[in-house]
Amino acid sequence: MTSILWFKRDLRVDDHPALDRVISFDEPILCLYIVEPDLWRQPDASFRQYRFLEESLRDLRLSLQKRGADLVVRTGDAVAVLDDLVEQHRCLRLVSHEETGNAWTYARDKRVAAWARGRGLPWIEVPQCGVVRRLAARSGWQSTRDRFMKEPCLSAPMRIEAVTAQSAPCPTPADLGLDADGIRKPQPGGRRAGRDCLMSFLEYRGQPYRRAMSSPLEGARACSRLSPHLALGTLSVREAVQATRRQQERGRHGGWSGSLKSFQARLAWRDHFMQKLEDQPDIEHRCLHPAYEGLRPTEPDQARLEAWQAGETGMPFVDACMRSLRATGWLNFRMRAMVMSVASYHLWLDWRSSGHHLARMFTDYEPGIHWSQVQMQSGTTGMNTIRIYNPVKQGLDQDRAGAFTRQWLPELSAVPDQFLQEPWKWDGAGQLLGRRYPEPIVDVKAAARAARDAVWAVRRSDGFRPVAQRIVQKHASRKSPSRRGRSGKSAAKRSAQMSFDF
Ligand SMILES: Cc1cc2nc3c(=O)[nH]c(=O)nc-3n(C[C@H](O)[C@H](O)[C@H](O)COP(=O)(O)OP(=O)(O)OC[C@H]3O[C@@H](n4cnc5c(N)ncnc54)[C@H](O)[C@@H]3O)c2cc1C
Repeated sequence: MTSILWFKRDLRVDDHPALDRVISFDEPILCLYIVEPDLWRQPDASFRQYRFLEESLRDLRLSLQKRGADLVVRTGDAVAVLDDLVEQHRCLRLVSHEETGNAWTYARDKRVAAWARGRGLPWIEVPQCGVVRRLAARSGWQSTRDRFMKEPCLSAPMRIEAVTAQSAPCPTPADLGLDADGIRKPQPGGRRAGRDCLMSFLEYRGQPYRRAMSSPLEGARACSRLSPHLALGTLSVREAVQATRRQQERGRHGGWSGSLKSFQARLAWRDHFMQKLEDQPDIEHRCLHPAYEGLRPTEPDQARLEAWQAGETGMPFVDACMRSLRATGWLNFRMRAMVMSVASYHLWLDWRSSGHHLARMFTDYEPGIHWSQVQMQSGTTGMNTIRIYNPVKQGLDQDRAGAFTRQWLPELSAVPDQFLQEPWKWDGAGQLLGRRYPEPIVDVKAAARAARDAVWAVRRSDGFRPVAQRIVQKHASRKSPSRRGRSGKSAAKRSAQMSFDF
């Protein structure tokens, strides 16, 4: 008799609650990964994500082999693969982590659940982070998450009693129809790379984190860069939380304390945003506040979309970010928020088309964070303050010396520093714009003003507020009362921040 451990986005053996559970049954385990071609045909899937996955699977296989097991890789539809294995190996149960994925994996999991029920096979899904399935209400969620994070990390088993089964090599990206997508400096995948990333961040890279996280140049090193590892589970978020806590307890000075605190907050935001998608899977496809549906044309202006994707909008800082993203698969939070905001406000593109492009470009694509953030930066949630980033100001603030912009836009080398973010104001613009670099495709100020007016018109419309209040009730973060400030005023202020900023 056998149990199947179905690896999904939990590609490790350390701190692995589903592995721990399956071992407790004291039966041989079949360790399985299914490459699902249909998943890789979705509009949010990309070559760079698959490359990272392949590296992570290689590492997982080695970890399993060290413990006397192996990874069985199969390609195909999950139900068909599972059915075949259950038949062949007389499996008693299926165990996996609880996945909060995209709409496609959600539908697939429903099919798997129906199939398992039909066969009378128990499917045990085990949480691996602070996201709570079938959450009744947001109040108290934070303490549940904190309790999970305080529980000791689970050690990797010394040995795994395993069942072997025929395994196939992973399909190539081309087999899955994934074309090379311009990635030139990919982040390495796999558990070992994830551990190195965490350790180097906590030992030395993270010291300037709080100050430097929004700088496009410094942030690439000062941010943890853990996101793709957390997305594929080569590291557990609890391992990151606890390793950070140990560093906090060392009481280090020189900026460390603020940086580690900010980092812990972001690890908590991760679960908070993923919880939104868990609670409302349709936020990947529908405006959280329905009044925004149809505000922007559903068919996006193709020329604008393509210019934005290619880094050819004529707004230098936006273009530098988009080109850098294409080459590296990563941007810091501020730059992600700005490029999304420009797409949704200045270029007036529907968030679904621009959001899919960004999803493909992010090696760390995490649907729960992504779609919540995409909607937040597009002003369609009904619960967040409208924030329209000014790309010229962002360039001046975050790339003061212009080194990042110049690195990605060599065609601007002749532009003097003071005009770098607004080359249209430079005397020599006639020789440059419309020739080697585009004129801005919109008037930055006028486009922002028009967008703000249109969004506020929706906000002021009849019936907007009661729906917005229900959304806040369902999704806004609420700390437990004991952790709020005692003064009514500061408590109200903080709770407003928690509700509206996140
Ligand atoms: C439009 C948009 C789309 C985004 N899409 C994704 C995505 O697909 N995948 C993804 O992991 N992050 C996404 N983010 C959040 C954030 O930008 C990235 O997590 C971060 O830049 C990753 O780099 P890092 O690991 O070095 O982050 P760090 O700053 O070192 O943070 C550590 C971890 O905390 C979490 N985190 C950080 N910032 C946030 C945040 N604002 N909200 C929720 N969790 C956060 C991530 O898991 C991150 O790996 C998005 C943000 C925006 C504005």
